[in-house]
Amino acid sequence: MSERVYIFDTTLRDGEQSPGCSMDTPEKLMMAHKLVELGVDILEAGFPIASEGDFEAVDAVSREFPWAQVAGLARCCTLDVERCAKALARAKRPRIHTFIATSDIHLKYKLKKSRQQALDEAVAAVELARRYVDDVEFSAEDGARTDIDYLIEISRAVVAAGARTVNIPDTVGYSIPSEFGVLIGKVVEALGDTAVVSIHCHDDLGLAVANSIAAVQGGARQVECTINGIGERAGNASLEEVVMVLKTRADIFPYHTCIHTEHLYSASELLAHLITFGPQPNKAIVGRNAFAHEAGIHQDGYLKEKTTYEIIDPRSVGVPEGKLVLGKHSGRHALSQRCKDLGHDLSREELDALYNRFLAVADHRKKGLMDEEIIELLHGGRKPAEAEQAEEAAAD
Ligand code: MN
Repeated sequence: MSERVYIFDTTLRDGEQSPGCSMDTPEKLMMAHKLVELGVDILEAGFPIASEGDFEAVDAVSREFPWAQVAGLARCCTLDVERCAKALARAKRPRIHTFIATSDIHLKYKLKKSRQQALDEAVAAVELARRYVDDVEFSAEDGARTDIDYLIEISRAVVAAGARTVNIPDTVGYSIPSEFGVLIGKVVEALGDTAVVSIHCHDDLGLAVANSIAAVQGGARQVECTINGIGERAGNASLEEVVMVLKTRADIFPYHTCIHTEHLYSASELLAHLITFGPQPNKAIVGRNAFAHEAGIHQDGYLKEKTTYEIIDPRSVGVPEGKLVLGKHSGRHALSQRCKDLGHDLSREELDALYNRFLAVADHRKKGLMDEEIIELLHGGRKPAEAEQAEEAAAD
């Protein structure tokens, strides 16, 4: 039987607080609209105590999307929790997400508090939050570097105080999958069915998605993630990658999410439009090249049967279809298919002649040829030498 994994989106909080990703309230509302359409289970809209803008955004998302489960972040202190509760006052399904650092390194240098003090403050904050809302999540910041016995002790204490979700973040992206999966397994075992165990992974070593998946295998049932993997430093686990790993490998994973994956690409595009950067071209799932094939052997296989080189149907994530890039590594099969698509059925001789002209141009290119250029070559209007000269002139 397949178990539900909840998707907690923090694009508007952890994502938004990173360089180049600031969004104002109208922009956050546009993104929230897309996230709701995508079907995220919990939408973290901001950190109300951090700024007026964050407060306003949490309040606005709560009002605009009354059916969504909206979360606000708060440190484990009265001021933060009360401010968060106020920002969520108009949400129908509010969640207060309160956190305190639990690793010795954070306790000693950052908070200058003992383990017992942090535990007492965590319990007090959860109790206070429960006076305002039923749904309280506790996060043990830097959980991946926290002593496991203490991590279990504080997790049990906050659950007894009323937390329904216990989140174990790998705040600094330090863990590796096998280690993190075991750690999460121990917390899951200790809490049993008293709370949902969540994880929040960062990508400093490029392992955020792998760690998230290992944690799900260890029993975590909520994944915190962001569109395009934006977030502090190297970012958070990418929502689209986590979701598509679980979906694509449903043959081995007895878990599912309720994300409408056909909206993934448009969610990625909208975010790229709202902030200062998009995903890198070779980014999994949503990058410009994620479904592009250039090598001749790959194109030939793809044209015969797409699944030879495509493990994901691009349409399932909202990309119209895989594309063949016609560059110097391309073969006759792809060129002939493109000509056919453009309305030209070529004989073997015509194709050979065109292919030679095509290679002469493509060899000097870093990018593939456009359809118009193929047509031009097809009509023989340009000899390779002229085409090269034209290219050189264009480059000057
Ligand atoms: Mn984070």
